[in-house]
Amino acid sequence: MRRDCKEMATTVANDPGSYKICQVCGAIVDKAADTCPDCSGYRFDEDTDNVVGRALLLGARGSSAISHLDIME
Ligand SMILES: [Zn+2]
Repeated sequence: MRRDCKEMATTVANDPGSYKICQVCGAIVDKAADTCPDCSGYRFDEDTDNVVGRALLLGARGSSAISHLDIME
């Protein structure tokens, strides 16, 4: 099942403190994750302003690091 990008972006934008951005691949990752589930990176940007900006950008584009995990399955 694919998640709606825009809905996901809204969820992240409303609660940016629960997410962070992978500095390797740019994916938005749950803050509880130790490493990026996508690229196994472990460097993250936890700035909430950046998380919101990234989420809105990904939502606006309609294709994103958020959804490509679903596409691969
Ligand atoms: Zn990554």
